[in-house]
Amino acid sequence: MRLILLGPPGAGKGTQARRLTHMYNICQLATGDMLRAHIAAEDEIGSRVKEIMASGQLVPDELMIEMIRNRITQPDCAKGFILDGFPRTVPQAQALDKMLSDLNLKLDSVIKLQVREEDLLRRIEGRYSCGDCGASYHKEFQPTKVPGVCDECGGDHFVVRPDDNPEKMKIRLQAFREQTTPILPYYEGKRILSTVDGMAEIGEVSNQIDDVLSEIA
Ligand code: ADP
Ligand code: ADP
Ligand code: ZN
Repeated sequence: MRLILLGPPGAGKGTQARRLTHMYNICQLATGDMLRAHIAAEDEIGSRVKEIMASGQLVPDELMIEMIRNRITQPDCAKGFILDGFPRTVPQAQALDKMLSDLNLKLDSVIKLQVREEDLLRRIEGRYSCGDCGASYHKEFQPTKVPGVCDECGGDHFVVRPDDNPEKMKIRLQAFREQTTPILPYYEGKRILSTVDGMAEIGEVSNQIDDVLSEIA
């Protein structure tokens, strides 16, 4: 199973991707998380992307394409992958196509999470995640079962993203509108694009995604 989850910041990509990796035993390639890991490691890539990410702008295509190229051939992706946050531009989508055809692999589905932009601020302002395992939560919509304790790993150390604020969100949404939405017709043309209602409750979004995937399985 090889799929792409598409949607603006806060649409629920990470939440759904994490669930699907457990379900299908495939890897989750969350480019934002990968970049944040480089920043945390204070390595060369981290120093190149730190300011760009903090500003809400997109990181250069070449860097992102290399990052994905290096990951999709690794053993944990043998059964497939979910791309969460990639591609975000038309050149990235084209590079992905080329990469997959060179490897003789096929993309099964592109799922778009349809959301109302006005409601996304509330999503990202309440977002926090486990500093140990990366599980994502929301103060209102998806709190940990036990306050202060991660459901998945029992960790008690949580982090908030520096770009999850109204000012940076404006820039991120603009980047999505201008640079990412142009890739939708590309996948529509290939007849692999499905849309689900990202404004529904988390469990309902999951059901809609499962319906899409059961049709292609
Ligand atoms: P993305 O990866 O697209 O940026 P996330 O999956 O991190 O989005 O979700 C953003 C925030 O909204 C998180 O705090 C998450 O817990 C919450 N969330 C995700 N899906 C829903 C939903 N369907 N309804 C309400 N809150 C949601
Ligand atoms: P969100 O979950 O809110 O959609 P991500 O965690 O996916 O955000 O991405 C955070 C930031 O990382 C982006 O604002 C951008 O700077 C950078 N980034 C992530 N993926 C890409 C990509 N495919 N192309 C360019 N920049 C990216
Ligand atoms: Zn955890």
